[in-house]
Amino acid sequence: MIRKLIGRVLKLKKRHGGGRVVIPAKRHGISRSQLPSFALKTTDRLQEAGFEAFIVGGAVRDLLLGKHPKDFDVATNATPEDVHKVFRRSRIIGRRFRLVHVLYGEEVVEVSTFRGSGEALTDESGRIIRDNTWGSQEDDAKRRDFTVNALFYDPAREEIIDYHGGVEDIEKKRLAMIGAPITRYREDPVRMLRAVRLAAKLGLAIESETRKPIRELAKLLENVPAARLFDEMLKLLFSGQSWACLMQLRDEGLHHGFFPLLDKMMKAPHGEAFLRTALENTDRRIREDKPVSAGYVFAALLWLEVLDNWDKRKAAGEKPMLALFSAIDEVEAVQEEKLAIPRRYGTAMKEIWTLQPRFEQRSGIKPFRLLEHPRFRAGYDFLCLRASVGECEQELADWWTAFQDADSQAREAMLLRPQAGDATKKRRRRRSGAKQGDASAADDGQ
Ligand code: ATP
Ligand code: MG
Repeated sequence: MIRKLIGRVLKLKKRHGGGRVVIPAKRHGISRSQLPSFALKTTDRLQEAGFEAFIVGGAVRDLLLGKHPKDFDVATNATPEDVHKVFRRSRIIGRRFRLVHVLYGEEVVEVSTFRGSGEALTDESGRIIRDNTWGSQEDDAKRRDFTVNALFYDPAREEIIDYHGGVEDIEKKRLAMIGAPITRYREDPVRMLRAVRLAAKLGLAIESETRKPIRELAKLLENVPAARLFDEMLKLLFSGQSWACLMQLRDEGLHHGFFPLLDKMMKAPHGEAFLRTALENTDRRIREDKPVSAGYVFAALLWLEVLDNWDKRKAAGEKPMLALFSAIDEVEAVQEEKLAIPRRYGTAMKEIWTLQPRFEQRSGIKPFRLLEHPRFRAGYDFLCLRASVGECEQELADWWTAFQDADSQAREAMLLRPQAGDATKKRRRRRSGAKQGDASAADDGQ
């Protein structure tokens, strides 16, 4: 009992800042040679100019876990203006958090000044709106989210500075919040999403005190600007563990403010298989270092909702293609509020959807035209995804697989005959002024 109590006090002390611990290379195992030259140049030059400079955050964490960091951030006691003076090719950015981007060709190193904990501007729910007060390294560690994200690596001395037991947590595969989790989630509800994403992506278990408040505080995500949620959504979808992340989000009740359609989709016919296949394909591509298109992934996330809306409209007598466009508009309007999908992804997503009925048309000139469409490949991949879970005919996807590879003679031979009555129907329709609800969908695909 007493031992348990002491253990608890020690744990709390550690999470609230147990002092500066210096961990030498022989204990942590990261050597300077594991860092890319642009990251080293950044810390070296700042140190030469008389400042402190460390690699910080995700990169140190990932190196300790034996993973490839995706970017290298630097923390320093130099102000943004100081940093800008040291690096000719740099620019000061940000409002909420001012920092400096140092540019090396394609590479960007983000350099941030140690932040203090006091006087951040918050809104009525406790959410931090602006935070540009400078502080010590210890202050900076304390305002980071998880212990494993608050490690500073000094490439010159090859030492890690650890204020919150982050190295031990990495060894124990544990994700623990620094400070009091409830307060920290109130300051920034996105930390709840980060907890789930990082745990799933890195194979860490969320420590119980860190996990407990999430379900109850999930509704705070409503206060977060849609653009920030969208950034987090992108990180989640391209984490290489998107399916696991999404399922864990659902387990924690975090998807309501984030991806409200998820419950409905999981219950829809083919819903779970569809989402799972789409996301696992994406995960595999990321792990194989192949490109993935965000438009495609969003098309997959929202397709069943479009389909549902489209079916209802067709059943109510709307013309198929017009009904599809209206369904897309409606689904987009609902999503806009929560997800704020930027136009460049939204355009690709909509093209993938509107191509789907065109795959049904397998006679005359239309299949040839479709092959030329700039988004054909994404549309075809999407068709295969649909077929793989039984949402459309496998035979249709197979036909297109064969059609693409065939030579022109074989393609001609593959074309289906126009369905009996197509021409007469068309003529009749034209004469009768294309009545609404005409079921002849040959022209419109379905
Ligand atoms: P990823 O691998 O997804 O990039 P990351 O931890 O590096 O994970 P970034 O968004 O690049 O995430 O953030 C860099 C660092 O900034 C984090 O490691 C953490 O120390 C700090 N940080 C990021 N977001 C928050 C937040 N919402 N609250 C507190 N600290 C944060
Ligand atoms: Mg990062």
